[in-house]
Amino acid sequence: MVNSILLKKMETNFSHILQNPSAKIYSSETKEIIEIEDRPLVMCPLCARLFFTDLEEDTIHLSNEHTPPHKLGGDINSITCRTCNNMLGGKVDSELIRQVKLAAVLSGESPDLNYKTRLERETLCATIGETGESIWLNLSRQQDTWYMLYPEKEQTWGGKFFEGFMKGDKFQLKFTFSSHAIGVSLLKIAYLTAFAHFGYGFLFNRNINVNLMMMYQFSHPEEKVFSLKHWIDDNIPDEYLGVNILVNPIELRAFVVVVDLVMGKHKQRHAVVLPGFRKNWRKTFNELTCGVEFSMFKCPDIDFLQSTYAAADMWDEMFDGDSDVNK
Ligand SMILES: [Zn+2]
Repeated sequence: MVNSILLKKMETNFSHILQNPSAKIYSSETKEIIEIEDRPLVMCPLCARLFFTDLEEDTIHLSNEHTPPHKLGGDINSITCRTCNNMLGGKVDSELIRQVKLAAVLSGESPDLNYKTRLERETLCATIGETGESIWLNLSRQQDTWYMLYPEKEQTWGGKFFEGFMKGDKFQLKFTFSSHAIGVSLLKIAYLTAFAHFGYGFLFNRNINVNLMMMYQFSHPEEKVFSLKHWIDDNIPDEYLGVNILVNPIELRAFVVVVDLVMGKHKQRHAVVLPGFRKNWRKTFNELTCGVEFSMFKCPDIDFLQSTYAAADMWDEMFDGDSDVNK
C-alpha cells in the first residue's frame, strides 16, 4: 500500500497543475494532446506515466519511493511507479549501495558484522583511491612482501579469497564500480528531493526540456544522457542539507541538493547539481566538479500544493527574473 497522505498531496498538486490553462499532456505514443478526465490522478515523476488513483488496477502499479534508497537511510518522500522503482533500484541504486557499503566496511563502520569480523580477523589496513571507473582498494597487513592481484572479475569479501595468504602479506584488490550508474542514482536522489520540495511544478516549468532529459535518463539508465560528473563530495555544512540554489559564481547558478547516505555509523555527504533555469548547466557541472569556490542559498520550505511554478517563482524572486531558459 502506498502512503495515502503522500498520494493525496501529489493528487492535489497535480490537479492544480492541470487546471493551468497552458497545461497540456501529450501521449508518448501518438504525440497528441490527451484529454484528461476529471478524476484523481498522479504522474510518476520518473517516467511521466499517468495513474488514476481511484482505479485499483492503476494504484497497484504505484509504490513508495525511499529517497535516498532505504538501505542508505532514506525515508519515503514520493510515490513513483513500480516499474521505475524496481528497475532503477536494481540497475543504479544497487551500485551506489555497493559502493557505500564497501566504504562502510573499510572504515569499520558497517552494520554488517559478517564483513566487519572478516576484516578484524584479518587485521587488514585499507585505503581507497578513486580512478575513473574504478575504486582501488589497497589492503595491507604489515610490511614484508607485496602481492599485486588484479582479479579478472569483481571480488567480494565472501568465499575463500583470503585463504593461502601468509601473515605479513600485502596485496591489492581492484573493485570495479560503474560511475555512470552511481551518477544516475545520485541524480535521481537529487531530482526526487527537489520534487518533494517543489511538487510537480519542478517538472513542468520553463526548464521542461532538461527535466524531460532527466526523465529519459531515468527510463534508460544505461544510456549516457547525463554523463558529466555532477556531484561533489566536499564537506558541506549541515545547514545546507536539502535543496539549495547556487548563488555565486553568478554564471553557475543551479540547484544543488545536499544529501547524506548513511549505512550504520558510516555517512557520506554529496552535493548533487541539478540544472536550474539557465542553459549553461553543463558548464556548472564542469566547473563545480573542478573545485570552483561557490556559495549557496538554502531554499525555504514552501507550500507548493496550489502552486504551478513554485521552483521558477522562487528562482525569479531571488534573482529578479534571471532565468534565461526561454530567452
Ligand atoms: Zn515511472
